[in-house]
Amino acid sequence: SKMHKKGQIVFYDESISEYINYLMNVEHEVVRAITNDEISVCYQPQVNVQTQQLISVEALARWNNPTLGSVPPGTFITAAEETGLIHSLGLFVFKKACEDIYRCSPNGEGAIGLSVNVSPMQVLEPEFSATVISLCAEVGIDPARVTLEITENIFIHNMDNVQPVFNQLRDYGFNLSLDDFGTGYSSLSYINHLPLNEIKIDRSFIDKFLEGGQSDMLVRMIIGLGHSCGMIVVAEGVETEAQFEKLVSYGCDLVQGYYFDRPLSIESLVERYKALSEA
Ligand code: C2E
Ligand code: CA
Ligand code: CA
Ligand code: CA
Repeated sequence: SKMHKKGQIVFYDESISEYINYLMNVEHEVVRAITNDEISVCYQPQVNVQTQQLISVEALARWNNPTLGSVPPGTFITAAEETGLIHSLGLFVFKKACEDIYRCSPNGEGAIGLSVNVSPMQVLEPEFSATVISLCAEVGIDPARVTLEITENIFIHNMDNVQPVFNQLRDYGFNLSLDDFGTGYSSLSYINHLPLNEIKIDRSFIDKFLEGGQSDMLVRMIIGLGHSCGMIVVAEGVETEAQFEKLVSYGCDLVQGYYFDRPLSIESLVERYKALSEA
């Protein structure tokens, strides 16, 4: 129960404790979720702005628990980070996504790309780059097809530690993407220090795109900045034709959002995009 007070929301104690209780259940249950096969992976298409062809997909974790229902990734990823389970959860998603995509799109001509979200905690784990390269080898997928998406607001105190890991991942052939671009503290500094291939304009800019104000100018600026640095620019959260048309005219490279597709199960993805093979 909550009480509205001139734009403020005041929670009663009972709902705070209910929420804390819920979060503790999530932390408790996430331990078993991985072994119980409750985590699944969805794929959201990223299409070329000019040709509208499928170029790649972003893997997004899903958790459906018998008692908690469908838990939003924001909630269980945080719980996994707090309990240290993010390492096994992250690798589970990484491996599953590589297997699914390799199966319906083998290496070579016409192969689609795969983007996987990586938590900052994972990157700072000493074995991370060795583990992901060996998982790719195990599955057979060419690491040059795989993009690791990392959110920018994580590095703040860790730039010195992150830089060598990123260089190594690039040496192995992986692509690196700066996710939620524009929402962190030192976006420009990251571009300057890290070997990035791609930036993803955060959804919040695309949301406010058509309302006037600064978003329009900022989106154009980010696209120009990305291209000047030789990077691919992706816009996320594209929901309307009007947003899409603007991104076409600004020369954005890839778009992702409900206007084209929601995140899809691997079966639905294969069904919808005939170029992918049934397997
Ligand atoms: P993200 O990386 O920014 O992912 C994009 C989110 O926007 C996804 O939410 C996606 O479903 C949603 N989305 C896509 N298109 C649209 C649209 O047109 N409109 C709107 N309103 N939303 C759209 P989702 O799946 O709930 O994931 C939330 C966040 O959880 C992700 O944000 C990512 O940071 C994190 N996450 C998801 N899976 C993983 C994972 O396997 N590992 C890690 N470390 N984080 C993950
Ligand atoms: Ca992402
Ligand atoms: Ca994002
Ligand atoms: Ca986002």
